[in-house]
Amino acid sequence: MTVSHHPDRALLLDYATGALSEPFALVVATHMALCPACRHEVSAMEAIGGAMLEASTDCSQAQPEDAFARLMAHVEAVPGEHAASQPAINDPALAAIPRPLRDRLPASPDQMPWRRQGPIETVFLPCDVPGYRVRMLRIAPGRGVPRHTHRGEELTLVLQGAYSDATGHFGRGDLETADPTLDHRPVADPGEQCICLAVTSAPLRLTGRLGRLIDHFLDI
Ligand SMILES: [Zn+2]
Repeated sequence: MTVSHHPDRALLLDYATGALSEPFALVVATHMALCPACRHEVSAMEAIGGAMLEASTDCSQAQPEDAFARLMAHVEAVPGEHAASQPAINDPALAAIPRPLRDRLPASPDQMPWRRQGPIETVFLPCDVPGYRVRMLRIAPGRGVPRHTHRGEELTLVLQGAYSDATGHFGRGDLETADPTLDHRPVADPGEQCICLAVTSAPLRLTGRLGRLIDHFLDI
């Protein structure tokens, strides 16, 4: 698996400093479980931040070699998708979901209470942050999400299969960031269901000809 689409550096920095909202942090953490590059980048940000904090509190005792050693130890310690400490899971569909998200699911993806919404199926996950929506999204092979734009930000992480929109092709581990400037219609690749984690900070707005008519009824 090669991850091609990553969170931008500002998003990773917000994650590393704890400034990111919890629903978006869930998406970034799940992406990181599938992406060694972003794990290392966030680890370096956290280590550098920690070293700077230490240096600012006790300049007289700070040793550059100590800070570097701690940084490298921290980078090496970040667990990945196949960390040995994780217990074995017999359900392949559940095992394919990285740990940060797996702990939030009500059941294995094969057994979740998917609710059909037009051409897609969704399962909403509990979310305490006002305005945000956290949902699992399942798109049948070759089918598309209705054309829409965004009233806020949307982070979409592919967990199984793949989809394409006007901005590119997204496979397992890829993360797409969308905002009100993006009007798109993601279409799943043929041959395999596409399952995504999608988090929005405000409701979507359907924009196609039919979408404008049913926007108030199709609550995505
Ligand atoms: Zn990444």
